[in-house]
Amino acid sequence: MIRVAVTGAGASGITAALTAAGNGASVTVFERNKTPGKKLSMTGNGRCNLTHFPVDPGEYTGSFSKRASDYQEDYGPMESVFLLDRAGILTANADGYVYPMSFEAKTVSELLTEAAVKAGVVFRCGECVKDVRHDGDGFVLCTDRGESRFDRVVMASGGLARPDTGSDGLGYEIIKRLGIRVAPVLPALCPLKCRDRDLKELAGVRAKGRVSLIYDKGAGEPEIRGGVKNHPGGGLPEKDVIASEEGEIQFSADALSGICVFNLTPHASPLLKAGRKLVISADLSPDKETDEVRQLIERLFDKSPCHKPADVLKGMMNRKLASVVAKRAGATGEGNDRDLIGRMAGVIKDMRFSVVSAYGFDRAQSSTGGVIAEETDDDLMSVRHKGLYFTGETLDICGPCGGYNLQWAWTTGLIAGKAVSRP
Ligand SMILES: Cc1cc2nc3c(=O)[nH]c(=O)nc-3n(C[C@H](O)[C@H](O)[C@H](O)COP(=O)(O)OP(=O)(O)OC[C@H]3O[C@@H](n4cnc5c(N)ncnc54)[C@H](O)[C@@H]3O)c2cc1C
Repeated sequence: MIRVAVTGAGASGITAALTAAGNGASVTVFERNKTPGKKLSMTGNGRCNLTHFPVDPGEYTGSFSKRASDYQEDYGPMESVFLLDRAGILTANADGYVYPMSFEAKTVSELLTEAAVKAGVVFRCGECVKDVRHDGDGFVLCTDRGESRFDRVVMASGGLARPDTGSDGLGYEIIKRLGIRVAPVLPALCPLKCRDRDLKELAGVRAKGRVSLIYDKGAGEPEIRGGVKNHPGGGLPEKDVIASEEGEIQFSADALSGICVFNLTPHASPLLKAGRKLVISADLSPDKETDEVRQLIERLFDKSPCHKPADVLKGMMNRKLASVVAKRAGATGEGNDRDLIGRMAGVIKDMRFSVVSAYGFDRAQSSTGGVIAEETDDDLMSVRHKGLYFTGETLDICGPCGGYNLQWAWTTGLIAGKAVSRP
């Protein structure tokens, strides 16, 4: 019987363990937390967005994004639904966003763990793996309680997001000690800190809009080198846009947030790390051309000619936003001249915020970077250490919000679980 150790009882580790045990392997999972699935239990605001129908592999970033596409056919969302179903977890599809029918993340970690235990998996919780050594045709796992020998090992220790859930980077230290290359691990799916002073005035505002990540030419950025992911929008030249998303923009005193902003971070984090200067252009009226916005403002002025511009704009947007738009357009006192109206329309369509950094790992839902694709074969086995596998966020990939990252965890858990138990 093949003896398999899995480091980490997150979504991908439990899936790998369950799959390997189902195929006849003797599986032990080492989890430093007292219970399995701590992060999984807090996903989707406690509701757990399990996957997405369909998954567009082009939405992933990182060296594994091409593999995400290759794995789709055999290990896509449908396979995840089957996996969960086998564990007694029924799912509900809400406009493509798939949740457990219980709408409770905790039920997912509990039922998956129970299914794994039923399949024979042994969970050693509260035991931290400190090192993994390749020894002959097997591996020695060193934990804070001692050493054990295994034929094969799955590293499912996660990325660096929310280190309080257990994925604090120790896994990467072990992996690097084995000589495996890891792309820089950076926070993703988190707010983006911006330096604009008037953000303080906007704290607490939520507004529908389109956010586009662009290079800051004003800060000396050279000509754009082509978008990573282009969407039309905001009247911005398409080639200028690195990434763009529509949704609810949430303003705080020092950052922009909301799912649409989170989804810019897998693109922003590596560029910021490389020293690039970035701005977010917020289009607060994405379904209208600038001229239509100008006409709307003119209509509002016709109705209240004596009002201050900031007050007039309240007829179409949140009052704090209206005040900042008026100020940025240079409105002083009353007035409704055509130039001012044009400038206000321009600000509404392209309100810029200078990005300082991504918020830290403690606010991130995922991380970019990890074990690079060239370090593994198609079964996710190390090309340097036969018998050593990787899953989930340990790998260099990041998807947007909406079930993409758990989908990757199920996909890679299924692949590695099958491969590690193959005689
Ligand atoms: C707040 C939040 C909400 C999210 N919501 C969603 C969502 O709704 N949909 C979605 O698709 N994605 C969501 N994600 C992302 C998703 O949760 C992760 O991508 C996924 O859980 C990663 O699974 P994993 O198995 O790779 O790693 P993890 O879940 O991080 O598991 C790694 C495990 O390894 C353990 N470990 C680490 N090192 C050691 C060691 N040395 N010894 C022993 N154990 C160790 C850790 O304690 C941890 O339990 C969310 C993330 C967060 C933080």
